[in-house]
Amino acid sequence: MGKRYFCDYCDRSFQDNLHNRKKHLNGVQHLRAKKAWYDLFRDAAAVLLEEQGKKPCRKFLQTGQCDFGFNCRFSHLTEADLEKLNAQVQDERRSKEDGGEVPASAAEDWLEKRAKRLSLAQNSSSPSEKTVFQYPPGWPPIQDLPPSLQAPPPGGWLVPPNLQWG
Ligand SMILES: [Zn+2]
Ligand SMILES: [Zn+2]
Repeated sequence: MGKRYFCDYCDRSFQDNLHNRKKHLNGVQHLRAKKAWYDLFRDAAAVLLEEQGKKPCRKFLQTGQCDFGFNCRFSHLTEADLEKLNAQVQDERRSKEDGGEVPASAAEDWLEKRAKRLSLAQNSSSPSEKTVFQYPPGWPPIQDLPPSLQAPPPGGWLVPPNLQWG
């Protein structure tokens, strides 16, 4: 038994050779299946817009069949389908607003508020109001504390200019 080529779009397999593959990949069935597959992942809003712009395909709506299939230039969606699609679009829109993605304007709002908050904090903390470091009551004398528990010297710890942290 030779190798089989499995086409995910069409959900079928055939003997894998150049001739079969070419024939299949250019076949109408395959192209339709492929388009349908990608349509599944298209934005519902885009599909809705496109379908609403088409006239209904009478043949499809009356008989449930149309030779043009996915390539038909008329819409194969019924009113109910369109309503369902519309509901889906609203749903997706809502879920996007609910948090998934933060709209640009919200992010800008936040940045603005943050900038205000920061400048307020800077203005209000004059040197005299700065909290003075105090050891908790009951601690041993400072010189008896291990270095890691001692307050930094005024001006901070001295860091040698070429110090490299491991
Ligand atoms: Zn195929
Ligand atoms: Zn049609």
